[in-house]
Amino acid sequence: METRIHNILKRNQLSVTDSRAKILELFLQQEGAVAHGDIEKRTGEKFDRVTVYRTLQTFVEKGIIHTIPTADNAIRYALCKDECSEGHHHDHHVHFVCQVCASTVCLDEVVVPQVALPLGYKPVQVEVVVNGLCKNCNH
Ligand SMILES: [Zn+2]
Ligand SMILES: [Zn+2]
Ligand SMILES: [Zn+2]
Repeated sequence: METRIHNILKRNQLSVTDSRAKILELFLQQEGAVAHGDIEKRTGEKFDRVTVYRTLQTFVEKGIIHTIPTADNAIRYALCKDECSEGHHHDHHVHFVCQVCASTVCLDEVVVPQVALPLGYKPVQVEVVVNGLCKNCNH
């Protein structure tokens, strides 16, 4: 695990700090997305809010994690695939939020559909978040 963390940080020209290593570890251990508040909760004893916030911002800028918009305004983050790089995200997949267990997952195989806009409008980013029952809750 530690080697993996160091490799990811090195590949992105980031020095290894306690906060970066710890927060990255959370993402590698977690299946699906992690809410900003949960990251604060799980690292709050060691790092202050500003450190956590800055670390997450750095990871987003470097293409290590991406943000997921959710209806409750709680920002969630998920690990990117290898195609993402600094300033260039390629996470064109649908996100799913379970209404029962509140888990948020990247549906990597589901590509965001093209949206036909009226003449004169240029889309820059299209986010699709589907709410429903995840495969664990849908019994
Ligand atoms: Zn990305
Ligand atoms: Zn669920
Ligand atoms: Zn995603």
